[in-house]
Amino acid sequence: MAIIDGKKLAEDCRAQLKQMVVSLSYVPVLAVVSVGDDKASKIYVRNKEKAAAEVGIKCDVYSFPEAVFQKELESLIIRLNQDKTVHGIIVQQPLPKSIDGGVLLDFISAEKDVDGFGVLNAGRLLLNEKGGIVAATPKGILRMLEATGEPLVGKHAVIIGRSKIVGRPLAALLLNQHCTVTVAHSKTQNLPEICRTADILIAACGQPKMVKKNWVKKGAVVIDVGINRDENGKICGDVDFDDVVDIAKFISPVPGGVGPMTVAMLLENTVQTSLVQTKEN
Ligand code: NDP
Repeated sequence: MAIIDGKKLAEDCRAQLKQMVVSLSYVPVLAVVSVGDDKASKIYVRNKEKAAAEVGIKCDVYSFPEAVFQKELESLIIRLNQDKTVHGIIVQQPLPKSIDGGVLLDFISAEKDVDGFGVLNAGRLLLNEKGGIVAATPKGILRMLEATGEPLVGKHAVIIGRSKIVGRPLAALLLNQHCTVTVAHSKTQNLPEICRTADILIAACGQPKMVKKNWVKKGAVVIDVGINRDENGKICGDVDFDDVVDIAKFISPVPGGVGPMTVAMLLENTVQTSLVQTKEN
């Protein structure tokens, strides 16, 4: 068994980005739109600011109270789209119920949609067309899979979760890598049985420690996307790490797995799209 060290992979990625950014004639700028006081959301924003500063990306956070009007956010995004000094725009999730996040995403121009959640970038990924921005979490997971050195072609990947930000784009990404992909969800029948057929098992369902040893084929690669709290308030994934660790060939931990890679890929997307916008590539 080997641990897939997402923290280390992310550090390496940030170091490479830092080198690249230092050689540019401009400072890449990431605009983060943050609404309300959700604790997790605030932590995610702080982590992004910190990581961006480390690689030389300027992170402008636009914070609004929960009572902000949708129109105000839409106007801000229109302004940011037009601002040539801004290269990437994200809307931090989760949003208060009063805000329609899907509509806000539609306002972000595709070339600045560094989360890759907009329909154009998501569609490009689905159709395996070049030139799109790939969502950070799936992109980070692919890097982690590549880091194992295990071939992907023809492998059966089972993804638990079909969200717009993880499960669905990841399914497209792995299909484009010639995996045979099964997407499971809350209505899936015989889930443990399906998971046992996976060469690559990816848990992204937000259910603390749901995946047990008897769900995993011996020698499988297991990636844990979940960020949950266990019964003691400790951060844990969707995989019962201690139970599964001996049966998997590779396994990613929580924390220190997909989380840091997600942030690193967001920064990479920001630098890449800034190169396209400034034509410095
Ligand atoms: P969502 O809640 O949007 O989606 C969860 C998915 O899991 C849904 O498709 C749901 O099915 C499915 N699901 C829920 N319960 C079960 C179950 N018992 N059995 C099978 N499938 C189930 O979550 P996200 O995709 O946004 O996030 C998933 C997890 O990953 C969370 O813990 C989140 O915190 C974490 N996360 C981590 C990131 C990172 O960087 N490490 C980034 C993003 C998320 P259905 O569609 O039928 O409801």
